[in-house]
Amino acid sequence: MHWDESKLLINYQQVLQALDAANQAANRQSPAGLLAVSKTKPATMIRALYEAGQQDFGENYLQEALGKIDALNDLPITWHYIGSIQRNKTRDIAKYFDWVHTIEREVIAKRLNEQRAGLPPLNALIQVNIDDEDSKSGCLPDELPSLIRAMMNYENLRLRGLMVIPNKAGSDAFVRTKALFDEMAERFKLPQWDSLSMGMSGDMAEAVANGSTMVRVGTAIFGAREYA
Ligand SMILES: *Cc1c(COP(=O)(O)O)cnc(C)c1O
Repeated sequence: MHWDESKLLINYQQVLQALDAANQAANRQSPAGLLAVSKTKPATMIRALYEAGQQDFGENYLQEALGKIDALNDLPITWHYIGSIQRNKTRDIAKYFDWVHTIEREVIAKRLNEQRAGLPPLNALIQVNIDDEDSKSGCLPDELPSLIRAMMNYENLRLRGLMVIPNKAGSDAFVRTKALFDEMAERFKLPQWDSLSMGMSGDMAEAVANGSTMVRVGTAIFGAREYA
């Protein structure tokens, strides 16, 4: 795949500036960080972005991600799994990733916990289906407390917060997700409950204004995707 390095680096600087402006506008004490979503993009692009200072990368498709993780294993990249998780994928996610954003069921969390044994704890976020839609993945808000209670006992997972993909532009999904995040913080008092993964290329500033700690940005950095 042909790509233009100077374009990539310009995009990256623009996204960093926009994120910085959003953090300042929101008066954030600890600024929201940037997860570069590199799905469908080649390892060479990830390497160039890493060299420009980007540490955290997000991938959705396991087989594709494993190839890139292997090709880049000389770099101390922090890898985030942000795709949907089927049972037969948990072993590789537990083995090769540093974060997982898309836990939605106890059975998946349990497998990840077992398969992570012997490694440092896997940073874990629960994906919430904040708009309660059949077509969306994620744990329903009502089911969240019981999933948290189960995950609190998993010593190989470090439960750090929530992730959301709102389905309607202009809804108050970010506001409601932040409220849920705060409610769970108050209720469970988990020591490491510090992460709210929300916002993408199109709504990064709005997400930061509403309490996101990590925005997941693909297109605005890497350009349009040719598939998926
Ligand atoms: C692809 C993807 C992103 C990035 O979306 P862009 O609109 O390209 O920034 C963020 N989060 C998830 C879960 C994704 O699948």
